[in-house]
Amino acid sequence: MTVTDLVSYDDALATYDPVMGLEVHVELGTKTKMFCGCSTELKQDANSQTCPTCLGLPGALPVVNEIGVESAIKIGLALHCEIAEWCRFARKNYFYPDMPKNFQTSQYDEPIAYNGYLDVQLEDGEVFRVEIERAHMEEDTGKSTHVGGATGRIHGASHSLLDYNRAGIPLIEIVTKPIEGAGERAPEVAKAYVAELRELIKALGVSEARMEQGQMRCDVNLSLRPKGAEKFGTRSETKNVNSLRSVERAARFEIQRHAAVLSSGGTIVQETRHFHEEDGSTTAGRIKDNAEDYRYFPEPDLVPVAPAREWVEKLRAELPELPRVRRNRLREEWGVTEHDMQSILNAGAVDPIVQTIDAGAPADQARKWWMGELARRANEGGVDLAALPITPAQVARVCALVAEGSLNDKLARQTIEGVLAGEGSPDEVVAARGLAVVSDEGALGTAVDEAIAANAAIADKIRAGKIAAAGALVGAVMKATRGQADAARVRELILERLGAEG
Ligand SMILES: [Zn+2]
Repeated sequence: MTVTDLVSYDDALATYDPVMGLEVHVELGTKTKMFCGCSTELKQDANSQTCPTCLGLPGALPVVNEIGVESAIKIGLALHCEIAEWCRFARKNYFYPDMPKNFQTSQYDEPIAYNGYLDVQLEDGEVFRVEIERAHMEEDTGKSTHVGGATGRIHGASHSLLDYNRAGIPLIEIVTKPIEGAGERAPEVAKAYVAELRELIKALGVSEARMEQGQMRCDVNLSLRPKGAEKFGTRSETKNVNSLRSVERAARFEIQRHAAVLSSGGTIVQETRHFHEEDGSTTAGRIKDNAEDYRYFPEPDLVPVAPAREWVEKLRAELPELPRVRRNRLREEWGVTEHDMQSILNAGAVDPIVQTIDAGAPADQARKWWMGELARRANEGGVDLAALPITPAQVARVCALVAEGSLNDKLARQTIEGVLAGEGSPDEVVAARGLAVVSDEGALGTAVDEAIAANAAIADKIRAGKIAAAGALVGAVMKATRGQADAARVRELILERLGAEG
């Protein structure tokens, strides 16, 4: 089906109700793999980070990574889940060359965390509760590279390369209950959920959750049912969607595609789908296996996991402030609107602003620089705000120089430009570039006198009471001092000289 065959989004929603299920895989930031001591660092040569256990060699025995379990419990607690008193790993049996053991060690009917929820905020400020079915522990597979074809997929390839460095890296899979009642906002809910989950994972410190690096990926399961119907329709599973925008687009496309198939009397096939970034479409993958095809059974080589209640309660007590609660607190402290806070979040500016305030800057100044000049430069450079070569402490120092009158706005911008260009700290840039407000009253007075002499007609107007005309003289003085005068002081001096009251 091509994009042009789709039913329009509005028409689809007029007839059908979408039901979604979101499965998010998070790669944990542990130092070692889930069941062996191999490093999780992926910068080495192919197959260099492997051992008999993660290569599935006969007789090799797995051992559970304690930090992996701890991270799973933290995620479960932050999602308001119940934490199992006793649970087991299970073997999910299937053959694929990137999985050398012939089974994936996962959890099946005994997940470590279950029955939770995550509240997500939509663009209009409304809060939507997404219920969590479960969060379970499992391991990643290796990586296949198909060589010789045009698309990089296995079809058309002459041969495939296998790298098992990723095999056995800890994953937490977080599965929602069916998300109903979102209607036309289903794609927005999907995006907001993944965004909120990502913030949560980062706040817990269990993963950097970089979607572009595959550390967090989302399967978007979607079905339609006629409006008012109880029974769910057949679902499709769009696999491994790896950006927030793509999650939204994939859900939207599938709504339109399902509607087109159903409206023309067709049936939806339960299958996996691939998402295509270029045009936002999905195409068929494989027919989806049912759980029974995997012949799940309890993993005999691993002891059950029975986290002590004292441990769970200790982790609960140590949970950081959750992102949505923190954002609401900061929004009130900073006195900004929901909309502004959303922009700050989208720009990745929450932490830089907080750190700048912690380094001594007033909240409004910290916000002004990060959301203004610095956001603009990050945008131009196509980098994250946090990746700019300037620290929150340096931004705070610029704010301090402005507050004490050493810099005005224009000079502060030049100082920031210098820091970003690698010219050193704000103080070093100010010294090297000679960026300081001219505060020498004698020099300023001379510049003011010259401006008055050169603009006699304007000076007469001001003497006659047209205070508004003073702007032109201030401009002339600022120009003469190359922007390095304090404009407010210049204005005072002009009005003083001409006997006008400001
Ligand atoms: Zn290993």
